[in-house]
Amino acid sequence: MTTWIEDEAEAFAPERRPLSQQAMAPRPTDYLDGLNPDQLAAVEALDGPVLVLAGAGTGKTRALTTRIAHLLNTGRARPNQILAVTFTNKAAREMKTRVGQTVGGVVEGIPWLGTFHSLSVKILRRHAEMAGLKSNFTILDTDDQLRLLKQLIVAEGIDEKRWPPRLLASLIDGWKNRALTPEKVPASEAAAFNNRGTELYAMYQQRLLTLNACDFGDLLVHVVGIFQAFPEVLEKYQDWFRYILVDEYQDTNVAQYLWLRLLAGGHKNICCVGDDDQSIYGWRGAEVGNILRFEKDFPGAKVIRLEQNYRSTPHILAAASGVISSNEKRLGKTLWTDLNAGEKVRLIGHWDGDEEARWIGEKIEALERGTRGSDPVSPDGIAILVRASFLMRAFEDRFLTIGLPYRVIGGPRFYERLEIRDAMAYFRVAVSPDDSLAFERIVNKPKRGLGDKAVQTINNVARQHGVGLLEAARMIVEEGGLATRARNALKSMVDGFDRWGALVRAGEIPHTDIAEQILDESGYTDMWKADKSPDAAGRLENLKELIKALDEFENLQGFLEHVSLVMDNEQDDGAPKVSIMTLHAAKGLEFPCVFLPGWEDGLFPSQRSMDESGLKGLEEERRLAYVGITRAERLCTISFVANRRVYNQWQSQMPSRFIDELPEEHVEVLTPPGLYGGGFGAAAVSSRPTGPSLADAAAKADAYNSPGWKRMQARAGNRPVSQPKETRNTVIDAEALPAFEVGTRIFHQKFGYGTVTDIEGDKLLIDFEKAGPKHVVSRFVTAADDVPF
Ligand code: ATP
Ligand code: MG
Repeated sequence: MTTWIEDEAEAFAPERRPLSQQAMAPRPTDYLDGLNPDQLAAVEALDGPVLVLAGAGTGKTRALTTRIAHLLNTGRARPNQILAVTFTNKAAREMKTRVGQTVGGVVEGIPWLGTFHSLSVKILRRHAEMAGLKSNFTILDTDDQLRLLKQLIVAEGIDEKRWPPRLLASLIDGWKNRALTPEKVPASEAAAFNNRGTELYAMYQQRLLTLNACDFGDLLVHVVGIFQAFPEVLEKYQDWFRYILVDEYQDTNVAQYLWLRLLAGGHKNICCVGDDDQSIYGWRGAEVGNILRFEKDFPGAKVIRLEQNYRSTPHILAAASGVISSNEKRLGKTLWTDLNAGEKVRLIGHWDGDEEARWIGEKIEALERGTRGSDPVSPDGIAILVRASFLMRAFEDRFLTIGLPYRVIGGPRFYERLEIRDAMAYFRVAVSPDDSLAFERIVNKPKRGLGDKAVQTINNVARQHGVGLLEAARMIVEEGGLATRARNALKSMVDGFDRWGALVRAGEIPHTDIAEQILDESGYTDMWKADKSPDAAGRLENLKELIKALDEFENLQGFLEHVSLVMDNEQDDGAPKVSIMTLHAAKGLEFPCVFLPGWEDGLFPSQRSMDESGLKGLEEERRLAYVGITRAERLCTISFVANRRVYNQWQSQMPSRFIDELPEEHVEVLTPPGLYGGGFGAAAVSSRPTGPSLADAAAKADAYNSPGWKRMQARAGNRPVSQPKETRNTVIDAEALPAFEVGTRIFHQKFGYGTVTDIEGDKLLIDFEKAGPKHVVSRFVTAADDVPF
């Protein structure tokens, strides 16, 4: 077992301060200048528990950062004695930079500043044995987790169609979020997963230990378990971390809360900052009640409220406050700003998602140029925040078309690509030979004649002897199992991993060289070189990119850890870019200009969240709306569409109910551009029975007589289209409706020319000249003669 003394590593080593620095007079405290009195109180109350409870943009994160600077500056703690928890790795990086700037760049680093997960990995690596793991354990991603659960379900003879692995995964995650190990799951939940939930959970945990692996939730649960079972270890950490700081405290779950309470249990120097109105991770087990419990758990806690918002103009702030005021369970707080009024929040409705993307693209280009007498805005200052990640694609497509540089934060990433995952599986086995999931992934990639039967044999041997797959493969080779060709292939794999593993452990040649060697010698690179499919070249490029990415890390293990942890990773050439991300990923960030598209009922608020959690779900969605609006400093634009393609199906959309909760006096309703929109959005707003105020404003926009609106009505065919009562019946010109019949030649924006071959209601079967036969909705099709080019 690792003991504390032997394990004294860099992070805990006493800081070496150069003599020149030691001799310097105490550093000035000008970083405190400019803080308001409440912020100053939060920074200066260094000892004892402190809770900063305040609305968006009031400088909570700034106070926390300054507090770290102050701890260092006053000599209360060395950088490595401060434990600071941020919500994302990106936030951790930013905080490090900010502290560095504040104290004049003297801070080399704050080794224990990171997310709950990254901090937990660090702790768990030191004491892995106490959790039944080895210190080189692997961290499984969701994909691996699901594969493992599926194996279990199948092995137990359970019908995986009725009882899907995904369901079990979310049950187990839920338990882990509450720090419940299998034996602690309450009896009332024993019926889960056809009465087998807890049993399968226990088996899954056992499998993980055999694989020397853990999943994301385990990172925290294991650490909490170690702290609870080994008080002497906990005590060391309690003594070491003199000060604990937590940002976004409203989103901690039970496991994280226990983790914090245990660590702060000694000196109780803990400072948490949060905003109950921004609690948006209830679906992942976050408990906003943790905020309310703080004073109970830490009696005598100093509670500080910040009320001045420094981020947003009054219109933006008022719009956000208006929306959130519909939530019932709130602590309630006052927010004010002394910034100039600025522009009202802009609201616009569009015909469909493509038009919305096109319009936003144009507005961004205008912002970049600087219009209406305002200064040009850098793309870095512009963000598009969406409720669901599938909404990003329309913007990506549009921006690629018009050459607008953008970055997707937290979206499908490089590391999720097939070839990258394969390559990483090779690295994982080289670093951690027990990682059987990784081994199984690449055992026959490239094809080596090790098909399902061979894999089954390897699995059987592994089970019989209680060893990992690589070890089982070695046994088969030594005992002459399998057919000659398969055995030889297996031997060359085993030899390869022995060789690569030895290189990794020796650490004599650069890990990038080892990685390249692994991919070359295993035949993986050659596999793609020989591949004639159109995407093979791209995959080879990605593999090269992977080696480049590796170079930034000290070793392979560090890199693999990074990949499993870093959810907000991005490749960046440093050029200014528009950011596209989900509302969830935007927490804590700010941008001068924010676009909030897709405000449609069912999408936002999300139907799923309302179905699953009822009013609680709706309130969480509303908090998400509040988070979205409060990211904007100067310009906030909300939009929605009448038609949206959701999972390949066209759907008519109703505007989000949150739109009618916006206070009218802070909103400007815009008229959509002619050709495709022509005021549908305004009409859609007005069609809501509950929203007369915005409807009036929209009607004033006089969009219904525009040529675009008429054209749009015409396209809409016989489908009812919402519009204000007073204009209904005056616009739709039945004569103008396009009539399609079998044999009509048509044009479709995306698929080009084609001929109608069948009609079913408003659905047409069209044989497209280039794209082949497809079903399309009639309103997206024009008779070929109508196309003006
Ligand atoms: P959120 O709830 O969105 O996380 P927050 O409360 O953490 O917001 P910060 O991000 O710390 O707020 O601050 C919001 C903005 O206000 C930042 O740009 C910050 O630099 C600025 N700010 C904070 N305090 C002050 C101050 N006293 N004077 C001037 N600007 C400030
Ligand atoms: Mg913040």
